[in-house]
Amino acid sequence: MTAGAELGKQVHEDDRAHVFHSWSAQSLIDPLPVAGAEGSYFWDFEGNRYLDFSAQLANVNIGHQHPRVVAAIRRQAGLLCTISPHVANDVRGRAARLIAERAPAGLDRVMFTNSGAEAVENAVRMARLHTGRPKVLAPYRSYHGSTGTAIGLTGDQRRIPNDAAGHADPLVRHFFGPYLYRSAFHATTEPEECERALTHLRDLIELEGPATIAAIVMETVIGGSGLLVPPDGYLAGVRELCDRYGLLLVLDEVMCGFGRTGAWFAFDHWGVVPDLVTFAKGVNSGYVPLGGVIVSQPVYDTFAERAYPGGHTYSGHPLACAAAEAAIEAMAEEDVIGNAGRLGGEVLGPGLRALAGSHPSVGDVRGIGAFWAVELVKDRATREPLVPYGAAGAANRPMLELLAACRSQGLWVLAGGNRVHVTPPCTLTAAEAADGIAVLDRVLDLADQHGAG
Ligand code: PMP
Repeated sequence: MTAGAELGKQVHEDDRAHVFHSWSAQSLIDPLPVAGAEGSYFWDFEGNRYLDFSAQLANVNIGHQHPRVVAAIRRQAGLLCTISPHVANDVRGRAARLIAERAPAGLDRVMFTNSGAEAVENAVRMARLHTGRPKVLAPYRSYHGSTGTAIGLTGDQRRIPNDAAGHADPLVRHFFGPYLYRSAFHATTEPEECERALTHLRDLIELEGPATIAAIVMETVIGGSGLLVPPDGYLAGVRELCDRYGLLLVLDEVMCGFGRTGAWFAFDHWGVVPDLVTFAKGVNSGYVPLGGVIVSQPVYDTFAERAYPGGHTYSGHPLACAAAEAAIEAMAEEDVIGNAGRLGGEVLGPGLRALAGSHPSVGDVRGIGAFWAVELVKDRATREPLVPYGAAGAANRPMLELLAACRSQGLWVLAGGNRVHVTPPCTLTAAEAADGIAVLDRVLDLADQHGAG
């Protein structure tokens, strides 16, 4: 056994003996020991390299080990590693300014958290206190984090603990958003889907009683629960409903923000301005945990004289903020967002769509920027999913086989239900994209074999 293999074995043994993994059946997983990473690749202890078509959890937007961000963390570690949220701190202030400068006018204040879920918790708390109303609306197809209110908002049943009764937030109501491929409204065109989804949302608001609803919370582009890009007109329609009924619009940009869609914020594509924005992941590419809420002036004013009841010990942590400052500056100077846009329009979009030509298992391909999914079916005519919603164990085997085949060919992708998600670093090159798509082209033969014939 080589020294590298020996070390990898030790890492695996320690992990299996002592690490409790999130979202996993502990005895059924076989985690890959990872030794290092750079750019669009990471590698194991034996030197096998993997092209990272996941950007881990769609967070490493700037690529792995960006030298400028690593240097900023090192520099900050030498100056000040931690300080309470109650003092002013140079990197915290600069990071907040850089974020606010990229947000629409009027969204000027940032409350920092350590994760996306905490950002959602605080945004909902702010919305409820600002409006004095208890209920919150969120789409069925959504993921907002695994803590109390965030998991209550989450409509994707696959994510909800079996003892959901103990976790559910009774003041959340779910609705159907646009998803033309599997339309809840029997629509056949995007404008039809958009209009019917807005009518459905309006009816829900009226039946629940607008005076009881604080906010609509939704991912601008729905990520882990479908990769659903809203049709033109939908976000503007939701904004209009919020204005008409006095609801706040909270856009969750934890996954789709900071470059992923080819814009600083996904809502920039449609020119819609929310009241609160949640962010995390891409803000510093996950190099140090950081999330937050961008707060509009009216919500800020609610807490001008009255204390905001919430906070976290590590809010605005200096190492995380130093990483954010460096990551945002590097993204701006190195045209990372432009690259994500070109990837979507010129490389990933056409390349992934072309897979449908040779693979009958490809039912739908959708996305924007560096944010794509290939939805797999057994039968294109009936659109029966390759694996059923919520499939686990043996029922999910076709997807697991596909991921394992990618891995054995040096491509790291994640699946969401019956979809392969393609969410690489926004810095991915066209050549790297072509390499990854070529692997998908080879392994999709496996999915085709499950077809109706
Ligand atoms: N909101 C969205 C849209 C997300 O995708 C996620 C995480 N994938 C979260 C919230 C929760 O973030 P975290 O895991 O950092 O708590």
